[in-house]
Amino acid sequence: MIHEENGVFPAVCPLDCPDTCSLLLYKKDGVITKVTGNPEHPITGGAICNKVRNMTERVYHSERVLYPLRRVGAKGEGKFERITWDEAISEISSRYKSLIHKYGPESILPYSFYGNMGILSVDGMDRRFFHKLGSSQLQQGICNSAGNTGWKYTMGFGGGVGPDELVHTKLFIVWGGNIVSTNMHQLAMIEKMRKTGAKLVVIDVHQNRTGQRADWFIPLYPGTDSALALGIMHVLFEHDLVNESFMQQYTVGYQELQEHVKKYTPERVASITGVPAEDIIKLAIMYGETSPAYIHIGNGLQHHDNGGMAVRTICCLPALTGQWLIPGGGAYKSNGAYGGMNADALERPDLRPNPDARTISMNRIGEALLTIDPPIRALFVYCANPAVVAPDTGKVEQGLLREDLFTVVHDLFITDTAKYADIVLPATSSFENTDLYTSYWHHYVQLQEPVIPKQGESKGNVEMFKLLAAAMGYEDDAFLDNEEDMIVQALDYADNPYLKGVTLDDLKEQRSVKLNMAQKLHYLDSLSTRSGKIELYSSRMKEAGLPALPTYIPLIEGYDGEHRPGIGNKYPLMFISPPNHSFLNSTFGNVDKLKALEKEPLLQIHPEDARSRGIADGDEVTVWNDRGRYAVSASVTDKMLPGTVVSQGLWWEGGRNSRANALTPDRLADMGGGAVFFSTVVEVQKSEK
Ligand code: SF4
Repeated sequence: MIHEENGVFPAVCPLDCPDTCSLLLYKKDGVITKVTGNPEHPITGGAICNKVRNMTERVYHSERVLYPLRRVGAKGEGKFERITWDEAISEISSRYKSLIHKYGPESILPYSFYGNMGILSVDGMDRRFFHKLGSSQLQQGICNSAGNTGWKYTMGFGGGVGPDELVHTKLFIVWGGNIVSTNMHQLAMIEKMRKTGAKLVVIDVHQNRTGQRADWFIPLYPGTDSALALGIMHVLFEHDLVNESFMQQYTVGYQELQEHVKKYTPERVASITGVPAEDIIKLAIMYGETSPAYIHIGNGLQHHDNGGMAVRTICCLPALTGQWLIPGGGAYKSNGAYGGMNADALERPDLRPNPDARTISMNRIGEALLTIDPPIRALFVYCANPAVVAPDTGKVEQGLLREDLFTVVHDLFITDTAKYADIVLPATSSFENTDLYTSYWHHYVQLQEPVIPKQGESKGNVEMFKLLAAAMGYEDDAFLDNEEDMIVQALDYADNPYLKGVTLDDLKEQRSVKLNMAQKLHYLDSLSTRSGKIELYSSRMKEAGLPALPTYIPLIEGYDGEHRPGIGNKYPLMFISPPNHSFLNSTFGNVDKLKALEKEPLLQIHPEDARSRGIADGDEVTVWNDRGRYAVSASVTDKMLPGTVVSQGLWWEGGRNSRANALTPDRLADMGGGAVFFSTVVEVQKSEK
């Protein structure tokens, strides 16, 4: 299709979004002129978000990096000269050889995340290369690892309710997620069911676009989600709204849990969460009496010190009521495990000469660059923009400024991170590559084949890491595979019965192939917890030093015991920085059309908090804590409880005071090494003119 100048071609959205939409690309004279949804896809249909309708602005952006570049200015200045690929590969490989000789391979660290969700873009030849090299290993806990770990302690398998079942649901609870912006096809399904009488309840710290559409929006204080879930459990047991026979057959520890939650009375939980006791009772009764009842557990609530426990606690709720047995009932956190690929074949960890190589958390990259011993001396960044997206960006910036750090960035743009690079390599867009996509929500695997030629001299992940491997002298067959070889290897995975029958040939013919969901019938009989049951009591958690039963543990910053502190604290406001509607993390932060829609970074502040600081709507304000500063305009609104301020979107290209993450901590969550972006306290004042 790459050679056809005109026509309509299938594609896949590459972004880190659960919908993984099937797309159609309209080409005229060899150029993509329009991006739409593919109406034939059973789940995503013809609807796509505004971000991706504007994808051509990104693919053909005038500032796209089209050639390899070498830094000629100071680090951070963003001044580069054009070089050839031969020069770039030769410089990188000779620096790596020299570093390995002097300091060992663990002096080199790859840094990547899911800027492109294609498995070959982030989990393929790159992994083979760094395994063979023996680099330090990256722990990729920036997004969902705390919540996924909490879910797995409870449920074992990392999958829950899929979209097919939602046609039965009567009560939707969206907890800690803004699905209008981040899972729009689920919202469409909910809206359809609302027409038949289903209700939508949204629980969040902030009345975002999803909260504004809810039948009932319940605001709570940040980091108190597990307390609210425990309060609901208390009422369910007290009002006999639990399903005893389900708990006997499918769970472990329900009697201990019943005893344990007696202390989470609605009154106590109200004082912790800010949700009135009568609302806690009303919500619990609504949940206990409505069937099927479904809980969508969003990404937001896990980005806390207690984020793993929050997800673990919420996903116990359907086990108390037996909702897992009812089509359309249960919960969803991620369905990624249904499409789990053969990672050993794809990533080849067997190539690693040092399986015990140190592991560095991506959430602590600033700290690692500044203090870890022996030091990281080379950083290879791809599909990621840590100068903006990682926590505590002040430290990240200091680390990237180190003169002795050799940094390579593979990207489509001179991102804020790339400004610190010694070498910038031009990356392809997803529409220029062959790649394989799964969804962490629906159950379809999709194939992308190139629709346009590689722009300029850009290269994809597979080609680039093969070049580097050859320059390093690696001769293993693993570095001879092409994209299709790797897709076949990834799909060949007997350990995942859901993948059975999904082949490259079928994907080439149909583009989108459904997983073998017949296996879902055995979901409750084959949970991979230690007991094989839903673990309301988890002995594994106890062994890991965590409470074995769901428990409310207050955040480290901003809480006095289990409550919010009173006035007089140095930093009395909780600061939350969720995504905005038009960017996806930092992707699209340089697309003018989408920037114009978001206008400018805003700080939403409650009228009470604004009044006590003499702040009016539209004022320029400075937000600060001991980590850094953030300059924004104030938007006075009561969309959250007093004491919480919210700034949506990760803005870049604006310098250090434009980064919300200048304020966020690089601590790790209670589980999975997760990030704790939202466990942050700040003070705000009107900026001096
Ligand atoms: S970002 Fe999400 S909703 Fe938008 S096109 Fe991509 S997958 Fe679909």
